[in-house]
Amino acid sequence: MRMYDLIAKKRDGGLLSEEEIAFVVSGFTDDSIPDYQMAAFLMAVFFKGMSAEETARLTLHMAKSGEMIDLSPIAGVKADKHSTGGVGDKTTLVVAPIAAACGLKVAKMSGRGLGHTGGTVDKMEAIPGMRTTLSQQEFFDQVNRIGIAVIGQSGNLAPADKKIYALRDVTATVNSIPLIASSIMSKKLAAGSDAIVLDVKTGSGAFMKDLDESIALAKAMVDIGEANGRRTAALITDMDIPLGSAVGNSLEVAEAVATLRGEGPEDLCAVCLELASAMLNLAGLGDMDACRQKAKAALADGSALAKLRQMVEAQGGDTAVIDDPLRFAQAPVAHEVLAPEGGAIAAMDTEKIGIASMQLGAGRETKNDAIDYAAGILLRAKTGDAVKPGQVLARLYTSNAARLPAAEATFLSALRIAGEAPPARPLVMARVDRDGAHRGSC
Ligand code: URA
Repeated sequence: MRMYDLIAKKRDGGLLSEEEIAFVVSGFTDDSIPDYQMAAFLMAVFFKGMSAEETARLTLHMAKSGEMIDLSPIAGVKADKHSTGGVGDKTTLVVAPIAAACGLKVAKMSGRGLGHTGGTVDKMEAIPGMRTTLSQQEFFDQVNRIGIAVIGQSGNLAPADKKIYALRDVTATVNSIPLIASSIMSKKLAAGSDAIVLDVKTGSGAFMKDLDESIALAKAMVDIGEANGRRTAALITDMDIPLGSAVGNSLEVAEAVATLRGEGPEDLCAVCLELASAMLNLAGLGDMDACRQKAKAALADGSALAKLRQMVEAQGGDTAVIDDPLRFAQAPVAHEVLAPEGGAIAAMDTEKIGIASMQLGAGRETKNDAIDYAAGILLRAKTGDAVKPGQVLARLYTSNAARLPAAEATFLSALRIAGEAPPARPLVMARVDRDGAHRGSC
């Protein structure tokens, strides 16, 4: 078999067989297929797409390129959640403790920030001392003991995805439904959970900007999960506006803790409760209404907050910042962004807000950049809010004052202030499960 022929076949819209997909994945993973041929192949997939069967095969071969983790030493139903990436998305830090407090086993591997989006592992590492690498035995023991562990991806989890993703990132081939679906689901299948809830973000801060495309991506992923024996459902949630008020690592941990205390922003709390309820529902703990009651009770009685605290303690983190988030190291530079004019915030280009946070030091411009955990943005006004000229729109935080001007310019360019704001978008726009897509605010 020759890679050249497979590139040409896909370029011309052909369907690849099981053997051909296996050849591409194993050849690229073992370096026998060079980057330039794989880049051409990915671009052909980007333009010609893949059938559901091809996408499922690609996913499984990518999953099997490394270790397929067997979670059977952990007793009980193992449930996972995954977000396709957003701005201010600290949901894992709220949802995973709620699910664990309700009796699920959450053995979760999370990622780092990608592009303008933040990552759970970076947020967790904002907690002094927190370990995000555990041996497999420690990981299993911790989940068996307290019901929850969130760590970084082990080096050998879907290594094909790691290589393919890095190439997609620099060849403008990220936004392709079969490529995103196979990337995410290869890692989810390899990570071993029985039930998987996908938070597919849609809007200006998401990789998928359009609702129909987001639903198509969700369907592709749900089909792959269900075909591989995992109960899988997706919620399509709004990312046309940052989630909550905090963007940036320690700011987001503080907001997640406030949410677990019942004092968080309404939008964040509502999305977290829906995601947690969907996890409980998939794991067989009742219908959605019963699961919503359980999730709310875990917030109200403090058991979800206690789970987060237990996890931080078990992974070596300083629980003082959970008890009092003001104990996080504070950024030495804080700057207020003022409204240049009055009116209503009609739109926020959420990707740009993510970029502004990166410019403050909260994310990486290059792979090896160090993160400024105290850097980020606290929003004081969001889409739909009326603002007066000179009113504070946000506070920007950084440890390096030289970063402020560019970040402030990016932040301001993200906002559109107009006479009036459009009606608010629903937070959850659709649900996709094995019975199909259910549109409308759910
Ligand atoms: N997250 C992933 O893991 N892969 C993608 O392709 C996009 C988002």
